[in-house]
Amino acid sequence: QSQELSEAQIDYHAALQALVENGTRMVCTGRMHTDRICRFESLCYSTEAEEFVYFHSNSSVMLPNLGSRRFQPALLDLSSVEDHNTQYFNFVELPAAALKFMPKPVFVPDVALIANRFNPDNLMHVFHDDLLPIYYTMQQFSDLDLEARLFFMEGWSEGVHFDLYKLLSNKQPLLREELKTLGRLLCFTKSYVGLSKITTWYQYGFVQPQGPKANILVSGNEIRQFTKFMMQKLNISMEESSSEEYIVVFSRTINRLILNEAELILALAQEFQMKTISVSLEEHSFSDIVRLISNASMLVSMHGAQLVMSLFLPRGATVVELFPYAINPEHYTPYKTLAILPGMDLQYIAWQNTDREDTVAYPDRPWDQGGIAHLDKAEQERIIKSTEVPRHLCCRNPEWLFRAYQDTKVNIPSLIHVIRQTVKSKPGPKKQKWSGSLYPGKVRDAKCQASVQGTSEAKLAVSWQIPWNLRYLKVREVKYEVWIQEQGENTYMPYILSHQNHTFSENIKPFTIYLVWIRCIFNKNLLGPFADVLLCST
Ligand code: UDP
Repeated sequence: QSQELSEAQIDYHAALQALVENGTRMVCTGRMHTDRICRFESLCYSTEAEEFVYFHSNSSVMLPNLGSRRFQPALLDLSSVEDHNTQYFNFVELPAAALKFMPKPVFVPDVALIANRFNPDNLMHVFHDDLLPIYYTMQQFSDLDLEARLFFMEGWSEGVHFDLYKLLSNKQPLLREELKTLGRLLCFTKSYVGLSKITTWYQYGFVQPQGPKANILVSGNEIRQFTKFMMQKLNISMEESSSEEYIVVFSRTINRLILNEAELILALAQEFQMKTISVSLEEHSFSDIVRLISNASMLVSMHGAQLVMSLFLPRGATVVELFPYAINPEHYTPYKTLAILPGMDLQYIAWQNTDREDTVAYPDRPWDQGGIAHLDKAEQERIIKSTEVPRHLCCRNPEWLFRAYQDTKVNIPSLIHVIRQTVKSKPGPKKQKWSGSLYPGKVRDAKCQASVQGTSEAKLAVSWQIPWNLRYLKVREVKYEVWIQEQGENTYMPYILSHQNHTFSENIKPFTIYLVWIRCIFNKNLLGPFADVLLCST
């Protein structure tokens, strides 16, 4: 790999001179450490100190220049997980003159994206925290193209899913440990540090119990652009959906098992009159699983990281997530949140085992596989008696682990009943017409005219033109919302109207100033922006 690095010819003496003269240059986006990504020229890394180094010279730039706030708590998050205190990035500073006394720098010619993977052994974390954020960070900066090189600084070894990370660029990603073999002082010619969090939809419960992120900014469209890219890289073609329809049961083979899997598969096949196949990460290649899931009508699986593969389901497919005894599906929703992202167009169904008879727990296993033998007797008894794991923080709650690693005999009639409440006929990818949700623009040329009748009555005639973009759209239903607010009051009277003019007479007083707010609404719930407020004096 060190050979690979030096392949691109760079003029060493020119590079060294530029570093000494110009020092490091940094310009960042983002206002807080949690939304910051920084672009550097000549950022260096000491593999001995395991620290990034910023060299000051007369031409160096540091924006934002935070002073000691850079340590409160850090310049930025190196992983996509928000404000995690093991994932902070910072650098130490030196004068460029110190280079004279330091090891000879080794220059990295590739444009680098420097980041932390969060948990590369868990497939949910791989996709949600790493692959999607890396992909869209690369989309954000045009020089992070397929020739860019990824540097993973979290310190883990490759991990079982490393092949997936390799798909994101044409160059082999490098791990922190490998940097030592390249030299004592590495200098990245051009680099980006940090990951975009714009695609993440879930928070894992480090400061409050886990749940969907408060402000989700990704839709199914962006998820599918990413999966399309991944499938192209995996050489999987988007097949025609004319071929046979089928159900995929994604099974786990090590823990959290479905104990009556054969029976489940048979029942699904019979109920939906569809071929039903089972896959697992242990028995199938990743590509094969993607190929199968990307054409499936329904994906059935125990709660667990493998369910993130529903990213690859076709529109219209159904996700059925099974939860072991005492685990409330509403409290663990990474896969539900994914399935119901706007534009994912998946149907989501949760089933929970509510029958103690059908669960097999493992109190004597090690704690990280759900064992509880290390707890005191009273606590063990409480856990065993409990019928629901109370909400908790990540990641070592023994009651949660105990319940999460139970095996389950799925009650088939109960499961089929739950699925049938949502899937009435055949499940599966419906050839849906694209019903993109486009929002109206502002209404135009809004006008009002007041008329006063006597001393106590008045009328306001308000009119406006359709939003500009409506001319080019076919919209099922166009409505207008008008708010009439008396100046100085903080309440208003709302109206929903079908036409482009209306005369208001209810509660309109003479010799009063009204503020009139108008916006267009498509198909009941696509609310457009308000036009500039109209001032109307009666
Ligand atoms: N895993 C698997 N088969 C199993 C158990 C786990 O493939 O029988 C995978 C799982 O998909 C995840 C990783 O191993 O990628 C870690 O699983 P764990 O149970 O720790 O996490 P969870 O699935 O609960 O997120």
